[in-house]
Amino acid sequence: MPLDIVILGPPGAGKGTQAELISEDAGIPHINTGDMYRAAVAAGTELGARVKPFMDAGELVPDDLTIAVVGERLSQPDTARGFVLEGFPRTLPQAEALDEILAESDRELSVVLHFQLSDEVAEQRLLKRALEQGREDDTPEIIHRGMETMRIPEELGQHYRVKVIPARIHAAPPLQEEL
Ligand code: ADP
Repeated sequence: MPLDIVILGPPGAGKGTQAELISEDAGIPHINTGDMYRAAVAAGTELGARVKPFMDAGELVPDDLTIAVVGERLSQPDTARGFVLEGFPRTLPQAEALDEILAESDRELSVVLHFQLSDEVAEQRLLKRALEQGREDDTPEIIHRGMETMRIPEELGQHYRVKVIPARIHAAPPLQEEL
């Protein structure tokens, strides 16, 4: 069975670090929509030109485009044994589209890891990172605004919460005790 993983959480939660560890450990690709978009912009592709205005404005790229990009990526043969998806889904329509994409090949998510982090800690970490990387334009105000755009919408968290994968727990005492 493929290992299809989604990692959700605010910026600064350490999603990328964990995604990379899982990817290496399980031998499945780490797919990050933000990285894909940055690479497209850097390579000057048509996709890059389409997404750049949204990225520059700190806004989400429209769902239909992002869904198409992820659908295409997930159709690549290296995802046959699974994937770690980071940065997607960010909206409920993206989550529903992902369910459909997977269902087309009789797959469904194995697990959704939702990283929880308070805004205060997330903002502190992002500010520290900005200082370390010399990103002086990342002021507390800009970081705060970015957090708002990147917040995981309640309805998205809910989408996965209602689809809880039941864990199978041994609910009886060990056999010896029953004898
Ligand atoms: P950040 O650099 O703010 O942590 P990312 O690296 O995840 O964010 O993404 C960079 C940009 O790419 C976002 O600001 C957004 O414009 C776009 N993007 C990434 N993932 C998505 C997505 N799932 N839906 C829409 N836009 C996205």
